[in-house]
Amino acid sequence: MKLRILGAGAVLGSCAVALAHYAPALPDSAIARPSRQFGLPFAGPPGPDTWLLGQGYGNTTGAYRQRRSTYGNLQGVHAGLDFSAPCGTPVRAIGDGTVAEVDGPHGSPPHNVVVDHAGNLSSLYGHLRVRSGVRVGQKVKRGEVIGQSGDSQGTCVSAPHLHLELRDRSHQRFFNPLPYLQADWDSLALAGSFGRGYQYDLNAPRRWQTPESQPEVRRGGALLNEFARPWPPAPGGAR
Ligand SMILES: [Zn+2]
Repeated sequence: MKLRILGAGAVLGSCAVALAHYAPALPDSAIARPSRQFGLPFAGPPGPDTWLLGQGYGNTTGAYRQRRSTYGNLQGVHAGLDFSAPCGTPVRAIGDGTVAEVDGPHGSPPHNVVVDHAGNLSSLYGHLRVRSGVRVGQKVKRGEVIGQSGDSQGTCVSAPHLHLELRDRSHQRFFNPLPYLQADWDSLALAGSFGRGYQYDLNAPRRWQTPESQPEVRRGGALLNEFARPWPPAPGGAR
């Protein structure tokens, strides 16, 4: 009997921790509208030796294939932008703000940083190579270096990139960063490696097919891409 009580306490304890990480989603009225108020997370021009746009935000073919695993809690959607970059490339805050997390619980290991901005927006910088030298509570300016880019697979040769997300401060809502970030997105999309594009549903072939027209994501919401007629099909004929 004593053991059972201890067990229940442990379960309650872990729930309380989980709830602390996930406050209720903020309403639209509390969140700043997109006005190109942020900059890019890298200094200098894009290029094969510096950085390029990799996977886009949204209904990508890569996210579709992992919609029930890696992206299952994000409605099957790639909820950030990937910037291909050599490991160690300095990563910069996209706007003025306050460091909210260093290696916090909100994804993109092995190391990440979250910066809170005006308008209840938060930016997350993921797959950083090493733990960032910034500390929680520290004020940062737009363009200030807050870490080094790394590799989601930890090798620096297999998948070196920065994963950048823009969320509401509750970490429940994920926004397409494009209209928030000042950049020449048309040129970046042409020069980057993002040739794989977006997943089609042949029943609605124009939906979510451009960088600008991607859906907002809610943590834990239903999958958005359980398509009736997906194209391209999943490898091996799996659905
Ligand atoms: Zn990513």
